[in-house]
Amino acid sequence: METWQFENSWFNELVGTYSEVSPDAISNPTLVAYSDSTGRSLGLAEQPAAADLCRYFSGHQLLAGSQPIAQVYAGHQFGQYVPQLGDGRGLLLGQIRNQQGDLVDLHLKGAGQTPYSRFGDGRAVLRSSIREFLASEALSGLTIPTTQALCVIGSDTPVQREELESAATLLRVSDSHLRFGHFEFFYHRNEHDKLKQLADFALRHHFPDCIDQPEPYAAMFQQVVVKTAQLIAKWQAVGFTHGVMNTDNMSLLGLTIDYGPYGFMDGYQAGYIPNHSDHGGRYSYAQQPGIGHWNLQCLALALSPLVTKEQSQLALEHYQTALLGRYSQLMAAKFGLNEIQQNDGEMLNGLFTLMQSEGQDLTRTFRQLSHQDVNQQHSAMEDDWVDRDGFRQWWQAYRQRRIAQGDIEHWQQQMLLTNPKYILRNYMAQQAIEEAQSGRFDEIARLQQVLARPYDEQPEYEQYAALPPDWSQHLEISCSS
Ligand code: AMP
Ligand code: MG
Repeated sequence: METWQFENSWFNELVGTYSEVSPDAISNPTLVAYSDSTGRSLGLAEQPAAADLCRYFSGHQLLAGSQPIAQVYAGHQFGQYVPQLGDGRGLLLGQIRNQQGDLVDLHLKGAGQTPYSRFGDGRAVLRSSIREFLASEALSGLTIPTTQALCVIGSDTPVQREELESAATLLRVSDSHLRFGHFEFFYHRNEHDKLKQLADFALRHHFPDCIDQPEPYAAMFQQVVVKTAQLIAKWQAVGFTHGVMNTDNMSLLGLTIDYGPYGFMDGYQAGYIPNHSDHGGRYSYAQQPGIGHWNLQCLALALSPLVTKEQSQLALEHYQTALLGRYSQLMAAKFGLNEIQQNDGEMLNGLFTLMQSEGQDLTRTFRQLSHQDVNQQHSAMEDDWVDRDGFRQWWQAYRQRRIAQGDIEHWQQQMLLTNPKYILRNYMAQQAIEEAQSGRFDEIARLQQVLARPYDEQPEYEQYAALPPDWSQHLEISCSS
């Protein structure tokens, strides 16, 4: 880490869009979690000494060359415009080059108060830091675009939430922390020169192929539309629900960012709401595609000094095509089909209807389906359904479609590569958190192993592929973090 060369592009190129802030250290730091894959992407062949990780990523000491800043942004939170948000409890430490030679942001979350903390204490609790860490690992394992996390550092610094908890920090690594809300901030304040500066920065660093287009900003916006659509299609395919899709939590690069009260659904339920405080279900599973579009409209407005209404309209028209296109590819693969044909709809929806009415587990159902032999009249799965006849009927329609397609074994193999056996269920994160709160961190490390290879059989971790325990149904994931 000491050899990292900081090139602080945001600090140097976007003066006036941030405040310089030094981290406020947490006390008695201990290493809670470390990601080897993130470390390797940053050129760390081996895990650095815990004492060094604790020193640099708990706010006690800055790495040479780091110039920490808190970024300002705004955002639509639950549909309401909030004119000023920003890094209220996180600092951008600067940029370094990753193994591929690309600049990446190092962001220290939980580093104390900033000018954008509003009424907050600038801290992140151990519980939410572990949840973010594990989700970064889980989504990476599923090849869903996401920010990464290098490590979590725990402490004995007390923080008050619903109850007294302890503070932690998380070192987040991302190609960019640019959010829709960054553009909204400068647009709504009428600071259109800054808006342009920000858009030029984005073009230069993240959308270089748009620069030579006749309309660079419109081309960039269109790419954001498509990336966002594809991200959400990927979420939908595995039942991931972000929980707080405010525009300040939307990445310009189409990455999953700002993990809070997210959830992977267990039993299939289109209206699944992981966020206990989201009473209206604005950010339920089924709403995500629509909310993605709504958020892009907010971004279109923010970019309106640079992208005409006609251009943004045209770009937005790509949203549905991109989302449905990617979603139907993913669905085809989940069902072991080469492609979804026009008259497949009823058969495909049939399984979701059955799952929904019986609360059958989304992940397990598709994984089991991947093991069935479609040459057989009966599937062993039928015993799992209350509506046995309903499932049998569905099975007949499904197997005939697969038989008609041919290449049965090949497509079965494809299904096993597409339908994860392991996902990060809420109860798994909860167990890891409770152990960590008593000073034991090996459950986190175990989950990292499991979640890094979600499609592989891992006999030693079979228990994590089971149905979640009953107690987990009553787990409430609060917004407080
Ligand atoms: P989030 O819901 O975590 O995405 O945060 C929304 C906004 O609230 C962001 O501007 C955060 O920086 C800020 N925020 C959240 N928690 C805290 C905290 N404990 N202290 C200061 N600011 C916070
Ligand atoms: Mg946020």
